[in-house]
Amino acid sequence: MHAAVRRVLGDHYLAVPPSAVRFGRHACPRCTDPAHGRPRIEHPATTLDFNLSRSGPYWLLAVTAGAKVGVDIERRTSAVGVADVALTAYELARIRGLEVPEQRQELFYRAWTRKEAVLKACGVGIFAELENLEASPADPGPVTMEYSESGLAGRWHVQDLALTPGLVGALAQDAESVRPVVTRQAAFRLAGDNNS
Ligand SMILES: [Zn+2]
Repeated sequence: MHAAVRRVLGDHYLAVPPSAVRFGRHACPRCTDPAHGRPRIEHPATTLDFNLSRSGPYWLLAVTAGAKVGVDIERRTSAVGVADVALTAYELARIRGLEVPEQRQELFYRAWTRKEAVLKACGVGIFAELENLEASPADPGPVTMEYSESGLAGRWHVQDLALTPGLVGALAQDAESVRPVVTRQAAFRLAGDNNS
């Protein structure tokens, strides 16, 4: 886990020396394997939940208490790929209906980051069926998104984030218990930077 995340959590939220913060993972909600569940704070004992997203040198940390949070940021230049298969028929229609390429790109990234934020809050990672997860990108939000995979079904409150120009981001939390979330954005040099 990034040293800066350890420092922020230790100094600002957990009141322990950053070196004392220990990270672990929740069990995967699909297969219960703890090797690839959502990251969590193992020590000290806390109700805080956090989620981290990175895109190039940028990172965004979201912290809340007593509920799951998911966050995703993307640089508009980053190669997102798999565009069409990730979109619902409705999203595709809305995006293709726009004449200006920049507007199409804006709606695509909005849909993409909203979906990723929901998946990261759920803990199902990249194996979810994105094309069934409606992100309503033409709606400025916040929006309520329904994840429907059996056993993991839930409603998520999703809002777009105001970030550095060129960065797009969204934050998802349980729609049944929307609460304050603190976000911190920063940019780091990549050299010597261990990916989390
Ligand atoms: Zn799994």
